[in-house]
Amino acid sequence: MRTLVLDQGYQPHRIVSWEKAVTMLYVGKADLVEHYDDEIRSTSMTMFMPAVVRLTRGLKYRKKSIKFSRLNVMMRDGFSCQYCGTEMKMRDLTYDHVLPRARGGKTTWTNIVTACRDCNEQKADRTPKEAGMPLLKKPIKPLWLPTGSFHVDDLRLPETWRNWVSWAA
Ligand SMILES: [Zn+2]
Repeated sequence: MRTLVLDQGYQPHRIVSWEKAVTMLYVGKADLVEHYDDEIRSTSMTMFMPAVVRLTRGLKYRKKSIKFSRLNVMMRDGFSCQYCGTEMKMRDLTYDHVLPRARGGKTTWTNIVTACRDCNEQKADRTPKEAGMPLLKKPIKPLWLPTGSFHVDDLRLPETWRNWVSWAA
């Protein structure tokens, strides 16, 4: 049995063994959100096996922990072109410097967006304004990645987790 750990914003954070989750509950690091029907019995106590717990404290370090990478930029943008909105497979997407590199544009969260090849080619070395291609949304440095990026595909998903994890069908 495994336990899903949510961060304070109820976003999936990680998966731990139920033993680890019990320890987290015991020392006050986490609150119980959902439990399995199975009971844990010891000489001193009886409790339900934790299915989903939520961290009691914020994860400040997570802000730093999301690496700037091609994959993470595409996850932030939902694998869709930020100019025309088309959703595509990763291999069909490119990334675009909003302010072109030749004009001093940096390779950062706020200047790189996901773009399809057609839009990338059409925009070329121009700003969105010059190209008449407004961005669908302003690129930001995300505090966390969408829950879809949370890998659960290799797990049999317990019923009690379903409200908390979204995954591709
Ligand atoms: Zn496009």
